Amino acid sequence: MSFLKGLLWFLFFVVLLAVSMYATGNFAVSDYLTELFLQWQPYLPVELNFDQFLVVVTVMSLIIVVIILSGCAGILMYTGARLSVAQQKQMGQAAAAKREITHIRDQHSRQYDQLILLGQTLTKRLDKRMLVQGIVEAASRNTSVSQASSVVSLWLLNFGTDTMRFEIGHYCDEAMFMKTEFQPSETPFSRVIQKKKPWLLASGRAELSVVKPEKAEPLGSVSATMVVPLVVENTVLGVLMIFCHPDILKSYEEQKGFYDALWEELALALAIAVQGELAIIDRLTGVHNREYFLRRLAQELDRATRYQFPLSLLMVDIDNFKAVNDTLGHPQGDAVLRIISKIVKKEVRAIDLVGRYGGEEFIILLPETGLGGDAASAATGALLVAERIRKGVDDEFRGLQKPLNLSVSIGVAVRRFPEDRSMDQKELIRLADEQLYRAKTTGKNTVCVYAPEPTQQAT
Ligand code: GH3
Ligand code: MG
Ligand code: MG
Repeated sequence: MSFLKGLLWFLFFVVLLAVSMYATGNFAVSDYLTELFLQWQPYLPVELNFDQFLVVVTVMSLIIVVIILSGCAGILMYTGARLSVAQQKQMGQAAAAKREITHIRDQHSRQYDQLILLGQTLTKRLDKRMLVQGIVEAASRNTSVSQASSVVSLWLLNFGTDTMRFEIGHYCDEAMFMKTEFQPSETPFSRVIQKKKPWLLASGRAELSVVKPEKAEPLGSVSATMVVPLVVENTVLGVLMIFCHPDILKSYEEQKGFYDALWEELALALAIAVQGELAIIDRLTGVHNREYFLRRLAQELDRATRYQFPLSLLMVDIDNFKAVNDTLGHPQGDAVLRIISKIVKKEVRAIDLVGRYGGEEFIILLPETGLGGDAASAATGALLVAERIRKGVDDEFRGLQKPLNLSVSIGVAVRRFPEDRSMDQKELIRLADEQLYRAKTTGKNTVCVYAPEPTQQAT
């Protein structure tokens, strides 16, 4: 290539020389040169004839042309070089950007594959134990860096007690924590349950003080914390507490899309893990749903007949509830429902069954109530429970202004044995409902009991 360039330059100069000589010898310029020669001849340092003078002039003009051309070429080459440096820089930047894009695309595709794989493996496991184990393993795997694996614990909402309970750990067990059961109102659960968003803390372990200090040492470099709520249909079913390397937090925002998808995937897996529980629970209040309650009621009636026990049924309806919705709004109404269901759960025994019968109506089955065997003691036992619930609600909301004078009315029906053994589920509910109606019409905030002998009423 450079040889070709040299050859071209050479030919160019030869042509230029020929043209110049021809021009200087043949055109008007030769007259001018003749004149110039005659003027300058006396002053020339050496003696030249006109032809020699012509050659000198031609060579000098050529030298000038060559100098000008070289200057131009130099300028062109210099600006070309400058341009090519900028171009190279630009190309370098473009290549770096391309590499970055490829890297991100690869990373996304790896993450996507991981999510798909995770979804497939998790949903294949229908066993709760396997699923929750898969959840903590996946959470740890996806939040670890090469120099430190994350320590993960999963806390599950216990519908019965309304607490967050340690379920399973990865690289840790429950002995690491101050408590194995926390109230949803305690830190760090309260915040993530309320906001339904992960909480990232650079020095979380110390701040949250959930880990026993003597157990914190082995956590070493995993000093950052992520508290992640696993949310399904607006309900926090569980919480992941992840102790991880601080680098994970640094890149969290950048990788947010991936993490959001990961948490969703894990929440779904958790929903599958606890689907058995979900299917029988009313999400808002945490008591059993109507379908499950009625199924269990039928079973309990059979059992009571077989084992010759009395049992009691309570129908609870919140008084003046509509006013809460109308005055404070539906979310406050929901909060009242939750508070009252908590009071009800607190006042019954573990073997009693609480269900949400309708909007603001609860139904309670008290098996084996009044084990003395006669209707009077069954009724007394049921009345005691009902009265405790009524009073609990009354105490909770006392002091609220009208029309928000919240209380409950309760109707109680007792199925004696053997006298009422033919009484079925429908009849029992009808009788309890009748008593509820009576409680409503006799001023509310009241318990009315159906029992053939004696019938009682308490205020
Ligand atoms: P009473 O003292 O006679 O029982 O009257 P009340 O105001 O309680 O009114 P009623 O029992 O007729 O109405 C119940 C209201 O409960 C109507 C409905 O809007 C509301 N409700 C039903 N389910 C829910 C729920 O899940 N959340 C909320 N916030 N309100 C509900
Ligand atoms: Mg009602
Ligand atoms: Mg009501």
